[in-house]
Amino acid sequence: MEKDSFMEWFSSEIPETLFPQIAAQVLFRCENCGECCRGEGYALVDEADVREIAGTLGIRPSQARSRFTDPDPEKNPGCRILKSIGPDKSCCLLDQQAKRCKIYNHRPRICRAFPMISADTQAEEIISFYSDCLGTAKFVKMLQEKRIDPQVLKNIESLTKQTEELQALQIMLFMWLTRMMGEIEEAEQIGRITGVSLPQEESSFQNDCLAYFLMTIKTDGLDEYQYEG
Ligand code: SF4
Ligand code: SF4
Repeated sequence: MEKDSFMEWFSSEIPETLFPQIAAQVLFRCENCGECCRGEGYALVDEADVREIAGTLGIRPSQARSRFTDPDPEKNPGCRILKSIGPDKSCCLLDQQAKRCKIYNHRPRICRAFPMISADTQAEEIISFYSDCLGTAKFVKMLQEKRIDPQVLKNIESLTKQTEELQALQIMLFMWLTRMMGEIEEAEQIGRITGVSLPQEESSFQNDCLAYFLMTIKTDGLDEYQYEG
């Protein structure tokens, strides 16, 4: 694919609301409270997730499917759900003592996207702040402090003025998401087509993500946020 046709596809198919969500996910740090891995709700997995779980645990996909998944009650095509166990309905892959996923680095894609990336691209709110997630509480605290930081305000101003820089950042965010979802080859191909690469220095990427996130969301709601964990 040539750069022009990629950019045409990119601007018509990727919703603008996805970019601040990815920027937030870059900045988010899971605190391993385990809250999102138990209770009502479930993690939806597809065949690729099942193969990943099987490969990680050194078992066959059919064994992973029967041992760890149940049919999806909502019958999403090609999907099953991870089994819940015990009175608190914990995910069967949660290490109860460590409060951490047993396959964290290979967890299903829906778990990798949580909590900042929403599957609902039509959602009114760009991002949902989960009040029972300790990582979200720390994320909100960081935003509250940083939104008035002079250097961050300067970065926002510079990003607002430079449309080429902004477009390159959106491509980087999409590449980051593609990599995080385990599609390493695809991410590299996007880099080759567009000539954009993820910065070597993690802190400069994070500073750009912070500036981008703060310039795209309304921050008024941050003051009303309350952690209920
Ligand atoms: S697979 Fe891991 S991250 Fe996903 S719900 Fe289960 S324990 Fe949590
Ligand atoms: S609720 Fe948030 S901090 Fe806790 S395990 Fe889930 S993502 Fe991590």
